[in-house]
Amino acid sequence: MPESASSSPGFVIDPPPVPSVAVEGTGARFPVRRILCVGRNYAAHAREMGRDPDREAPFFFMKPADAVVDDGLDVPYPPETANLHYEMELVAAIGRGGRDIALEAALGHVYGYAVGIDLTRRDLQLQARELGRPWDWGKGFDHSAPCGALRPVETMGHPARGRIWLAVDGIVKQDADLAELIWSVPEIISIASRSMALKPGDLIYTGTPAGVGKVERGQVLTGGVEGVGEIRITMT
Ligand code: MN
Repeated sequence: MPESASSSPGFVIDPPPVPSVAVEGTGARFPVRRILCVGRNYAAHAREMGRDPDREAPFFFMKPADAVVDDGLDVPYPPETANLHYEMELVAAIGRGGRDIALEAALGHVYGYAVGIDLTRRDLQLQARELGRPWDWGKGFDHSAPCGALRPVETMGHPARGRIWLAVDGIVKQDADLAELIWSVPEIISIASRSMALKPGDLIYTGTPAGVGKVERGQVLTGGVEGVGEIRITMT
């Protein structure tokens, strides 16, 4: 008789662990279902990417849930890129799901906020963009979504302004304000929920301000959003 590859009844192999992020001030964790990311959501960043920052409808891409990496950890430099970029972002965590969520109700679906880094294999992303191919290989690789501890809404409210910044080895590269978001968190939630049901455990990376650039092996990324939190990771 073949030996079972699973110690879990009902599964032919062991189910993968539930990806999760820390929740500030508790020992508990927030389970991650999937990661939605908003593209070009700050005008100055849209311009530096060679695009018109006119208020086109927001667009989304996704990363796998298990791309999350906790604050303070080492992140392995990914394969098949010579141009890995950092993108500092405000992250909204969905605590209550819904479809066709009204703008006025959208913030009621947020469990909390964190700061995150949308690591990007820029060379692969731009190649895909040129060729009209999906962005997945540029955006959705292993360890591509470092995320700091979530702060629950009841302890912090909903941030609409505040400094968002990132430094490489202590040198500030991104420095902007949440007030510059083209599409606000409630707008993003409302619009995304027209295309697919949002569910508890979804993380939304809300886009990065200008100043994106390269990070090399051995460099330390630090960043934060005023009133939300900070993150520090080391590329190895
Ligand atoms: Mn991004």
